[in-house]
Amino acid sequence: MNIYLDIDGVLLANEDNLSEGAAEFIKFAVDNFDVYWLTTHCRHGDPNRAIEYIQRTTDENLRPWLEKIKPVVWDFKKTEAIDFSQSFLWFDDDCYVGEREELHSNAVFDSWIEVDLYKHPDQLKHEIKLLKSLLD
Ligand SMILES: [Mg+2]
Repeated sequence: MNIYLDIDGVLLANEDNLSEGAAEFIKFAVDNFDVYWLTTHCRHGDPNRAIEYIQRTTDENLRPWLEKIKPVVWDFKKTEAIDFSQSFLWFDDDCYVGEREELHSNAVFDSWIEVDLYKHPDQLKHEIKLLKSLLD
């Protein structure tokens, strides 16, 4: 199972703050799954900007986990970076029309986990339970 993670509106609630439960979510995901960045902060294969963007928001040292998240490459649609030959979950607050079409055409629309921190500020806490259930 691969995990793809967006940053803005998912791991970060706003530009300067981690979302509730994000640190635990990152650690649990990285410790148990293959995790990939799927964010505008890492779209050309260099993960350093994404790592720094998150690390600057917290006093906790998340680097050991953040450095294990793998970079991907995409240009227009995030779905370009998804390996459709493997099962996956993609945590993102946005999924654009072209990306939705791509998910539907691969019959994996349910692999997109829509994160809505406005409605559910502590959503990532609950998503840890989803990840745990996948290990059973
Ligand atoms: Mg986002």
